[in-house]
Amino acid sequence: MSEGHTDISTLGEFGLIDRLTQNNETRHASTILSIGDDAAVIDHFGRQTVISTDMLVEGIHFDLAYTPLKHLGYKAVVVNLSDIYAMNATPTQITVGLAMSNRFSVEAIDELYEGIYAACERYNVDLVGGDTCSAPKGLTISITAIGEVAPGKFVTRSGAQLNDLVCVSGDLGAAYVGLQLLEREKRIFSENPSIQPDLQNNVYTIGRILKPEPRADIINWLEKNEIVPTSMIDVSDGLSSELLHISNKSGVGCVVYEDKIPIHTETKQTALEFNIAPTTCALNGGEDYELLFTVNQSAYEKLVLSEQISIIGYITEANKGVVLTTKSGNNHKLTAQGWTAFS
Ligand code: ADP
Ligand code: MG
Repeated sequence: MSEGHTDISTLGEFGLIDRLTQNNETRHASTILSIGDDAAVIDHFGRQTVISTDMLVEGIHFDLAYTPLKHLGYKAVVVNLSDIYAMNATPTQITVGLAMSNRFSVEAIDELYEGIYAACERYNVDLVGGDTCSAPKGLTISITAIGEVAPGKFVTRSGAQLNDLVCVSGDLGAAYVGLQLLEREKRIFSENPSIQPDLQNNVYTIGRILKPEPRADIINWLEKNEIVPTSMIDVSDGLSSELLHISNKSGVGCVVYEDKIPIHTETKQTALEFNIAPTTCALNGGEDYELLFTVNQSAYEKLVLSEQISIIGYITEANKGVVLTTKSGNNHKLTAQGWTAFS
């Protein structure tokens, strides 16, 4: 952690809140009242409000042995914004709930907030409140993100139609591989602290786990190209799981082609070093925070112009299930975690 170790008790709860929020900015006209009262007031001026909460618990969702607190703060915000974008909405405000043990210093929480504020600035959202309390153990961060969307323009998981194209942004599986690398280095370090980690060739995959970015750019691109997805979800639990969510909610099936699933070369190489099929990382890994969406076939000509979007399959009838067509041409039904590589 950073220089200095000032006990939070020297500031007290209110002193800490004041310190954390003293330079807080307001960017949106919709933020009518921000930090400092019993609640914040937001007016989305005739637009609809989208709300989502995500909680990160030390030991379950993150490990401070290899997660810098600034990155953790950034990521805690970003994973919430990803949910708002996945509704085709624009995030505008967040609130931050913190529970921490006395092991955390004022300086450590400052670092966490540096990351939180960096994400707020990058994605143009206002921090409008939160709650702070002590906990017997560990660190828990619960963030609520609020966004806005034109009435009726939000996109759910349930609108996929027969023959729609199945699309995904960016590439998949990198965060899972990055996590395997960090876990491996942690093991090596705990056995022999004199060995320094060598992660020079893994900058991309490690970046994907420590500093994910939500796909605001994809939402903007879709809007500019006048494409409204029929359904959408962000990839937090792995492609298989998200395809199943869309299929179940929409009452459809789908086929995706293994050779169309976008996977970064560094992900492929590192996965193979771990003896894991790269496709398995994409299907079952998660934490990619890419957008998975379906669109009417009429959008095909526009979609192929985006280098950031891959068309990986199409929507079928419900009774066909969720099917992966492998590179060798075999069909496998996908389950949430149940797919393993068939060579
Ligand atoms: P109350 O007791 O009414 O819940 P608090 O004293 O907890 O109020 O909070 C005072 C103000 O500081 C509120 O506006 C609250 O939203 C804000 N706040 C509290 N904790 C945090 C935090 N960790 N980050 C940002 N704002 C916070
Ligand atoms: Mg409170």
